[in-house]
Amino acid sequence: MNITLKNLTKKFPNRNRKIKEDVVAVSNFTFEIPDGKLVGLLGPSGCGKSTTLNLISGLETPTSGSIFFGDTDVTSLPPEKRGVGLVFQNYALYPHLTVLQNILFPLQNIKGKDRPTKEEMNARALEAARLVQIEELTDRRPSELSGGQQQRVAIARALVKMPGVLLLDEPLSNLDARLRLQTREEIRRIQRETGITTVFVTHDQEEAMSISDLIIVMKDGVVNQTGKPQNVYDDPVNLFVAKFLGTPPINVFDGEVKGEKLYIGEDEVLDVKGARDGKVKAAVRPEGFIPAEDGKLSCGMERVEVMGRDTSIVFKNASLNTDVGRAIVESGVVKDPDARSVRFTLKPNKTHLFDPESGARIYYGDTKAE
Ligand code: ADP
Ligand code: MG
Repeated sequence: MNITLKNLTKKFPNRNRKIKEDVVAVSNFTFEIPDGKLVGLLGPSGCGKSTTLNLISGLETPTSGSIFFGDTDVTSLPPEKRGVGLVFQNYALYPHLTVLQNILFPLQNIKGKDRPTKEEMNARALEAARLVQIEELTDRRPSELSGGQQQRVAIARALVKMPGVLLLDEPLSNLDARLRLQTREEIRRIQRETGITTVFVTHDQEEAMSISDLIIVMKDGVVNQTGKPQNVYDDPVNLFVAKFLGTPPINVFDGEVKGEKLYIGEDEVLDVKGARDGKVKAAVRPEGFIPAEDGKLSCGMERVEVMGRDTSIVFKNASLNTDVGRAIVESGVVKDPDARSVRFTLKPNKTHLFDPESGARIYYGDTKAE
């Protein structure tokens, strides 16, 4: 089932009573989540991700705008009538019930003619347990499970009613790094296997990039950019999105365009055909630097970190907005790790220009606005 969000806005009275103005948690959010896809809703803490998810589930009602599941306007439907499965950061399992009883719980709450028979309930609970691969654990209590296993039970419980939509709010935050990695792959597998339209909320860009068909990048309640993870990474619309995606992060320099040339400090580093004269932020992905003796950008070399498959060059430059920058190059490219300086040629498709005031992308050469 596809989900359509139309001009969704949610305002809250400020929690600080002294401030009269409302908090705009979600502002004019319009997007269509395609049927059967996993969409990653991404942004820093407080940007409105949970509020958006709660609007989709019906736990919150929008101040204005509407929500459609398929062709049905669900904007004023209560959560229990929307057919959504919810998973939160805190698994909130019932400690006194077994795993199976926890999964059965939502089915036992169904009243009237829709209530499945006992056999159907058991079959569906076991099927959900199988799907998340905890069928051997169904007799245990939550306290006898690891964090990752508990989160799987929570997912099984969300799936047991066969929802048309699965909503996950930072479901991996309580897990340690290794389990997080494993469980996110599990979530992807389960989503593929069931084909349920899924919204996955996280503040972790790597997590969202790795498992999503599409990502939505939010800031201060506003959708900044949507698209396939690779496209958003390759073609950010503003400096915020450029900086938010990617590890190590993009390197931001103060630069200036003069006569269709980009200058960083005194160095004329790149042809930027079509870009207007003026100050810019020049942001270069770590993989956008080519060490070269005749490279036009000169930097101080801090250190070289060998990481096996590739090598990190940690460099300094007076125009850099951060203390140090980081270039990632193939191992073996750095001939003299003890050199005091390094020169780089910049790859144009990895070098993006932004307006220093608004942060908006400045397109040049073959790059252009969509
Ligand atoms: P996220 O999930 O991205 O961290 P939230 O959606 O929880 O962000 O919150 C977005 C903004 O709305 C924040 O500024 C938050 O303080 C505010 N907010 C959320 N819920 C309420 C509420 N019930 N009352 C007042 N302000 C709220
Ligand atoms: Mg949240």
